[in-house]
Amino acid sequence: MASIILNKNNFFNNLDIIAKHTKAKDKIALVLKDNAYGHGLLEMASMAQEYGIKKCVVQTEKEALLVESFFEYLLVLADIPSVMSDKIHYTINDLHTIHNFPAGTKVELKVDTGMHRNGVKTEELYTAFARIKEQELILGAVFTHHRSADELTSEWFWQKEKFKNVKTQTRELAEIFGFAPLRFHSCNSAALFRESAFDEDMSRVGIAAYGCMDLPEALAVEGFKPVLSLQASKISSRFLKKGERVGYGGTYEMAHDGIVSNYNFGYGDGFLRRVSNNYKTQQNVPLVGRISMDNSSFISDEEELLIFENASYVAAFAGTISYEILTSLKSELKREIV
Ligand SMILES: *Cc1c(COP(=O)(O)O)cnc(C)c1O
Repeated sequence: MASIILNKNNFFNNLDIIAKHTKAKDKIALVLKDNAYGHGLLEMASMAQEYGIKKCVVQTEKEALLVESFFEYLLVLADIPSVMSDKIHYTINDLHTIHNFPAGTKVELKVDTGMHRNGVKTEELYTAFARIKEQELILGAVFTHHRSADELTSEWFWQKEKFKNVKTQTRELAEIFGFAPLRFHSCNSAALFRESAFDEDMSRVGIAAYGCMDLPEALAVEGFKPVLSLQASKISSRFLKKGERVGYGGTYEMAHDGIVSNYNFGYGDGFLRRVSNNYKTQQNVPLVGRISMDNSSFISDEEELLIFENASYVAAFAGTISYEILTSLKSELKREIV
């Protein structure tokens, strides 16, 4: 099995850029869902703590409990509480699930401002507040998510405008229902860097912190460095003659005599099989033949092969996004912080 190398300097470099933009470390809520985008939940949580990050966002309560000791505030995006914790906050994604939250739960209300994935509709705000009150939940924040922050269109602006109205409405509702003042957040990585004067209470930052934000040129932000690189070790090596074929189905035919080595990284570890016969490392070492479950072959004799140093680079070959490359990496892979 290959190993993941996590570069702490690069991570801290990215957090510096983000903190400069949010104007405070304390406004960064690091998104750690899906095993910290494949980087390793505990590894990233401990480095984040060392840097001084106090907030994080996860998908499930199970993830929250694993990293609870590292943070002061944890937001769970989609789960129902089974334990009581002072630090864990749960998202209300639908009017009809409010009755599932036990009295006393700290909740944040997600509002659908146009993505139409999760959140209550703006017309449902009054009812949502009434049910939250009736259920005796502790409402701390109202938030939303952009559907097109990473695209060069005007959609970001109208969703932002819509959320501005939600803020006004919910501030009033909080007073009517006797709730404490609300916090607000709407920005993921791409949205944060479109804000020239960020003034919300926090930003939910994932991909920028990991250094793999792919944006259209006009929206691009300089200076981010990928945190994760992946190195595989040679299992075996052989000399092949021109015309000999490599791997399942013999789909690659040697163009010249040469050495082909087989490395311990396959689709079972998270190497997307669709880049079979269509990948070169950043050092220009070609992958040959089909990727198999635990193996992939390269025209190389190196003992250790750097398969990639930037998930965005692999994503371009696979016709996908860096998020999918990263979250495909299995949690069983060894992780080393350098
Ligand atoms: C995953 C996620 C984020 C983080 O998005 P990035 O593009 O990685 O910064 C923020 N908010 C919500 C609701 C998410 O699901």
